Amino acid sequence: MVSAFLIKYGEIAIKGKNRHLFEDALVSHLIHALKPVKGEFFVSKEQGRIYVDVTSDTYDYDHAVKAMTRIFGIVGVCPLYQIDDNGYEDLVQNVFKYIRETYGEEKLTFKVVARRARKDFEKNSTEINEDLGGRILDEFPNLSVDVHNPDFYLSIEIRERINIYSKTIPGPGGMPVGTNGKAMLLLSGGIDSPVAGYMIAKRGVALEATYFHAPPYTSERAKQKVVDLAAIVARYSGPIKLHVVNFTDIQLYIYEKCPHEELTIIMRRYMMKIAEHFAKENHCQALITGESIGQVASQTMQSLACTNEVCTMPVFRPCIGMDKQEIVSISEKIDTYETSILPYEDCCTIFVAKHPVTKPNINVIKASEMNLSEKIDELMEEAIKTTEVIEVFAK
Ligand code: ATP
Ligand code: MG
Repeated sequence: MVSAFLIKYGEIAIKGKNRHLFEDALVSHLIHALKPVKGEFFVSKEQGRIYVDVTSDTYDYDHAVKAMTRIFGIVGVCPLYQIDDNGYEDLVQNVFKYIRETYGEEKLTFKVVARRARKDFEKNSTEINEDLGGRILDEFPNLSVDVHNPDFYLSIEIRERINIYSKTIPGPGGMPVGTNGKAMLLLSGGIDSPVAGYMIAKRGVALEATYFHAPPYTSERAKQKVVDLAAIVARYSGPIKLHVVNFTDIQLYIYEKCPHEELTIIMRRYMMKIAEHFAKENHCQALITGESIGQVASQTMQSLACTNEVCTMPVFRPCIGMDKQEIVSISEKIDTYETSILPYEDCCTIFVAKHPVTKPNINVIKASEMNLSEKIDELMEEAIKTTEVIEVFAK
């Protein structure tokens, strides 16, 4: 019966002053992630390690593990078999029980790794390693010792209580969200942008998002789909403040005034400008998009350059060098795929030209934008003023 977990995190990234920031962030993310899980948990930081103790009689093991192994910064979660200290002989019997329950008759190699965190235990760590190793060999004919490359390390930690463990369930790695600033994700209903948000959040960056909605050309269902996607990404990134911009009038005005083959590029430039406005207002340090070189006309090298030209902030495009199938694989892994492929159209698909430019020239694009006059500024102001803000929590 597992009654606690040891949380393993990347040591290299957290040397020096950042260490307690990193650990405190992990503790608070663990508390948050375990809230919806059936059972009661106590998260604590102790001598450079993080423990999750189960304080209720029953709990949902699978759900708890799933919730914890989604947290960026965690490289592994070890389920602990915890016993009271009733002397060395009692420890040996409990270790036998643990091995029998965990490995049965399997033919395996092992190595004992003992750590004594208090000196009043009757044997020191070297003595435990040697003696316990021998006792296990006598008890289990199916096991043998391999000190260099064993099938499992049997860890024994002598603390207040005694922890016995040998399994590590892998976590996602990365860094705890919030330890590396915040960025604004341009989130559409597609496959790519939720993946892009996930990848940047993995590096410890908190997220906000902007969605461009074009009612009545795009439906409430399309908007709900984006809210749902944000809620899935929030499982990993934490809560997301989603800005829903009504983009209809801007789109119609561009449609009226500019050459149709340039519509997508010009629209995308206005999207970036508005997203950057909200990014600055909300103390984000970068923008994120799901663009990938050559995927569509608006993502050729020339198109990306034209879109980028309106931004003063760095724009992160973590999918830039990936094939569609690679992006799809990540979206399946993070559970956004099924929602992304629901058929509701987003605003980019409504106003697309039959033959969009694939090699836009920035001077030509700027000349076309001259047709937009001051009215575009008024429309932008109006769109910003009427933007709806939704706090999206993990679902
Ligand atoms: P995705 O699968 O992410 O929708 P896509 O392949 O459909 O991407 P585009 O429509 O060209 O590509 O969009 C490129 C990027 O621009 C998206 O990844 C997203 O970051 C942003 N974007 C596109 N449409 C919207 C929208 N309606 N609201 C917010 N961001 C958008
Ligand atoms: Mg799209």
